Amino acid sequence: MRRVVVVGAGPAGMAAAVCAAEGGRQVTLIDDNPEPGGQIWRGETEGAWFERLQRVRVARLPSARVVTGDPDARALTVELPDRTVTVTWDDLILATGARERFLPFPGWTLPGVLGAGGIQALVKSGLDVRGKRVLVAGTGPLLLAVAALLRSRGANVLGVAEQASGASLRKFAFSLPWRKLWQGFELRRGIRYWTSCWVESAEGRDRVERVRLHGRGVVECDYVAVGYGLVPNTELAQILRGAGTLVGECNGVGGVEKSLIEGQIAGHAAAGNAAGAARLQPELDRARKFAASLDKAFALRPELRHLAQAETLVCRCESVTHGDLKEFGSWREAKLYGRCGMGPCQGRVCGPAAEFLYGWQPSSVRPPVLPARVGSLLGEQHE
Ligand SMILES: Cc1cc2nc3c(=O)[nH]c(=O)nc-3n(C[C@H](O)[C@H](O)[C@H](O)COP(=O)(O)OP(=O)(O)OC[C@H]3O[C@@H](n4cnc5c(N)ncnc54)[C@H](O)[C@@H]3O)c2cc1C
Repeated sequence: MRRVVVVGAGPAGMAAAVCAAEGGRQVTLIDDNPEPGGQIWRGETEGAWFERLQRVRVARLPSARVVTGDPDARALTVELPDRTVTVTWDDLILATGARERFLPFPGWTLPGVLGAGGIQALVKSGLDVRGKRVLVAGTGPLLLAVAALLRSRGANVLGVAEQASGASLRKFAFSLPWRKLWQGFELRRGIRYWTSCWVESAEGRDRVERVRLHGRGVVECDYVAVGYGLVPNTELAQILRGAGTLVGECNGVGGVEKSLIEGQIAGHAAAGNAAGAARLQPELDRARKFAASLDKAFALRPELRHLAQAETLVCRCESVTHGDLKEFGSWREAKLYGRCGMGPCQGRVCGPAAEFLYGWQPSSVRPPVLPARVGSLLGEQHE
């Protein structure tokens, strides 16, 4: 029987695994978290897709990170907590999701300044924010979801600073179906929402105490949650030189519905169910149209390129500042001669920032895609 391997157990990967398994395929689902759910359903166990996943036979590899792979051998190198294994595939589906984009501004590395999705994950894992003054800033619909979660956990949400303009957001809102528009209103209810507004700097002695907001002055706070949209995780796909089907946010940021539809289509296709895949095409077209309008409405404004000062860190792993980078003309030069992107995150944080700030295109991706044990890279593998 053909073996379908799915990397990533977020909504896209879960849907792909379920549809392939329901179609009779032998499926292995790999994710670096202990439980399925990905970003949006982190910590949850209930819902239609969790139930369907429970009902089918899917071999799960939890807490397992795919660190590299060989497209010729159709093999992935997978680090488990206690050993490294090789997993081979007949059909490969990559559902590796997206990560947050961080843009440097003075004070962005102070304790208490967190990613919007980062604080969301911490709160879901138990961070107590009761009574804490939190400012949420950046861009995109995720900010509202984060603000709503923080408020539901007792935080004093001071407001949401959205860099996109009011005009751009109104145009976007008018293009939305009623259901999505209503969801947005519900999330925003009772939360101050400032458009054309962003964090210019964060200040504090040992941790953030206040931020300066464009056009709004100084706001005292305990936490700042900042996220400038999402960046698709395509590194594994690049290492695998196009082997496998990309689904979900790694194939273009567009929200959970697009992820679920793309996952189902890939799962049906892997199971040879062409009719099942074709039936979902109209939904996919709608979801991709929504993704395109999201992209346009929340496009980053050029002013954000000028927030970093000479001493502001761009690569925090290797302590490379905006001033240090002025002498380089490309990402490759900055890596080779300035060590930018050479630290543990391998440019996953500073790479997208440098792309926006300096227009540098990332150079080719090298393994490992995630921090890995040396033994895994040397090929000490045990099945
Ligand atoms: C931090 C963050 C928070 C978000 N919060 C919300 C929210 O509250 N509401 C909302 O509507 N949308 C949210 N989003 C957007 C959300 O990601 C999508 O709408 C949806 O979850 C995408 O599903 P997905 O399956 O495509 O990707 P994801 O849910 O991101 O799932 C991808 C999975 O692949 C795993 N993975 C990646 N690479 C590897 C590897 N090499 N080896 C093993 N596993 C790997 C990841 O750990 C993850 O579990 C958030 C996004 C981010 C980045």
